[in-house]
Amino acid sequence: MMFRSSRREVLAAGAGGAVALSGLPAFAAGQGEGRRPGYAIVGLGMYADVILPRFAECRHSRLTALVSGSMDKARAWGARWGVPERGLYTYDTFDTIRDNPDVDIVYVILPNGMHHEYTLRAAAAGKHVVCEKPMANTAAEAESMIAACRAAGRKLMIGYRSHFEPANREAMRIVRDGELGRARIVTAETGFNIGDPAQWRLNRALAGGGSLMDIGIYSLQAARYLTGEEPVAVTAVESTDRTDVRFREVEDTINFQLRFASGTVANCVSTYGSNHNRYRVVGTEGWLDAEPATAYAGNRLRLRRGRETVEHTPPALAVNQFSGQLDHLSQCVMTGAEPIVAGEEGLKDMRIIEAIYRSAAEGRTIAL
Ligand code: NDP
Repeated sequence: MMFRSSRREVLAAGAGGAVALSGLPAFAAGQGEGRRPGYAIVGLGMYADVILPRFAECRHSRLTALVSGSMDKARAWGARWGVPERGLYTYDTFDTIRDNPDVDIVYVILPNGMHHEYTLRAAAAGKHVVCEKPMANTAAEAESMIAACRAAGRKLMIGYRSHFEPANREAMRIVRDGELGRARIVTAETGFNIGDPAQWRLNRALAGGGSLMDIGIYSLQAARYLTGEEPVAVTAVESTDRTDVRFREVEDTINFQLRFASGTVANCVSTYGSNHNRYRVVGTEGWLDAEPATAYAGNRLRLRRGRETVEHTPPALAVNQFSGQLDHLSQCVMTGAEPIVAGEEGLKDMRIIEAIYRSAAEGRTIAL
């Protein structure tokens, strides 16, 4: 059995071409030419603060607007990130963004329960959209977001950054190329010990649900993108201490098993009670594990080959996952290509998430 490192990916990215390998969807990592699409960031919170510095490393994207509940905050962030007054909006003035020719793409980084509304408003303003995960509170909302962007002739991408991250792309390639033999069991664990009971993540209307919507979705994504398959059935069990003040409205732990048509089974953990960030794929001829698996940086892969377990360094990509994601949508806007993680990808997760909740509530396996 051979574990190839993907030199093609390094070479393609380094040469400025589109990255395509092993049946994985390509994403562009080339040099920018001509006008770079402008982004408006909506919701200036923790994750916006992770994204904003990444524009400096983008080749195809620039930051041109900020949208916040507070104009003072928008001004302060604008001063920090070089966004002039004409690019500053509140939620009340957001719709006038249609008149701003410097904004091509709206990046929705709001609480989950606001994704639907702001995606619809952005599309109505004639802008392309990237919306953070989870795409929406419900599959029905996700469907209407896709329909709105399609009707407006605008792109819709979901903020699934792992698809732009070297270790995750390499893990996908290894599994899908059959380098572990036939994938038998996937285990994926994501979770953290959530704090402040007053935060929006613990409010049902704003979060749509608990750990599954926020962090367990990474386990679900990993099971799907590692195997490249869609589950045919799901069985879930929830464990929530409803006397814990944090979990009055949303679930704490919800573990789920996905069954795939090939016979592969994925056992997934989603929790707000303890820290987890790993996955493992065991095939008929070896295994792969990643820990951390979906961190902002420093994801690590190990491979079992024969009787040897080795650290595996994924081929480098030209840019970090955040800039890669921003630039990918910009290139899609410029070329008309579809994003590799379009709205339909988010909708698939929302449908499975609803089935997971239903399975846990009804105590039975749900066919998908
Ligand atoms: P934060 O609470 O840190 O920020 C959300 C921001 O939304 C706030 O700062 C606020 O900005 C704005 N907002 C508007 N209305 C409300 C409201 N009622 N309650 C709270 N905030 C409000 O959240 P995060 O940045 O952590 O998460 C935002 C989104 O990004 C979520 O969908 C989350 O799932 C996703 N995310 C994705 C990550 C990834 O790796 N892809 C990582 C972390 C989060 P303002 O004051 O400017 O109005």
